[in-house]
Amino acid sequence: MPMIQTVLGPVPVERLGLILPHEHLFTDLRGADTPGLGEADLDDVQAAMQRHLDAAWAAGITALVECTPAGVGRNPLALKRLAQHTPVAIVAAAGLYRQEFLPRWALAASEAEVEARMLAELNEGIDGSGVRAGFIKLAVSNEGITELEKRDLRAAARAAAQTGAVVASHTSGLLSGAHALEEVEILESAGLPGSRFIWVHTQNSPHLAEHRAVAARGAYLGFDGLSPEREEAFLKLVLDALGAGLGRQILLSHDAGWYRPGEPGGGKVRGYTYLVERFLPRLRERGVDEATIRLMTDENPKRAFGKTR
Ligand SMILES: [Zn+2]
Repeated sequence: MPMIQTVLGPVPVERLGLILPHEHLFTDLRGADTPGLGEADLDDVQAAMQRHLDAAWAAGITALVECTPAGVGRNPLALKRLAQHTPVAIVAAAGLYRQEFLPRWALAASEAEVEARMLAELNEGIDGSGVRAGFIKLAVSNEGITELEKRDLRAAARAAAQTGAVVASHTSGLLSGAHALEEVEILESAGLPGSRFIWVHTQNSPHLAEHRAVAARGAYLGFDGLSPEREEAFLKLVLDALGAGLGRQILLSHDAGWYRPGEPGGGKVRGYTYLVERFLPRLRERGVDEATIRLMTDENPKRAFGKTR
């Protein structure tokens, strides 16, 4: 029975239903060298975020994957605090963000050191917290994948191959389709099959041919920026991918949240219920059946994030 590693421990996938595979609860984009990066009063975090988790649970969401890796304020104890007060399962990320956000230790680290750090985050806990990560999150630069980012991809491939964790990578900019293919190639060269990769922000490429090419390598397509403002664009992306027979590889999420340290009350937080309340009904109106809805929102994320070891 596959399990998903949540911040409170492993949960068998059969106990879960609808999963949001790309969201944020707590993120700090002020830069890796910012004093106090990723630090906040946990009572304040809970005061800001509890109602959004309550609303998610009420909407039928059973798990939320938190996609904040090292360098952008990842805070495992904040995630644990939130998880202790909601039935929504919360999954934390191992890994590193793109080069511009790398913490100082990572600038000088060897590939083996990065791999060891990822393994420790997955197997023991993040930064000594005892809170284990449930997958690996990376990111690559818009202008091109840097040497340090290639190092992190290879390290992640090895850590993922040893643990069963999936690798998700933020891939943005005009070249995102080409970069996603390059990421698959780097992962495969280091021993991880393309089927264990999630192309984060697939919507940044409007080209179905690129979606097909990456999916042909087995990877998941993350349509993960769902919002009312971009409803028609996302409906077209998802319907086109379904029309191309890629339903088994589609993931749907909002990239929403999140508490921002340094801003009063954590700043403006976006909730997690648009998918259920608006987007799925729109898909049904366009003829998408319940089995396909379930495939995209339940079976696919369970296959992606579920581990057998
Ligand atoms: Zn994100």
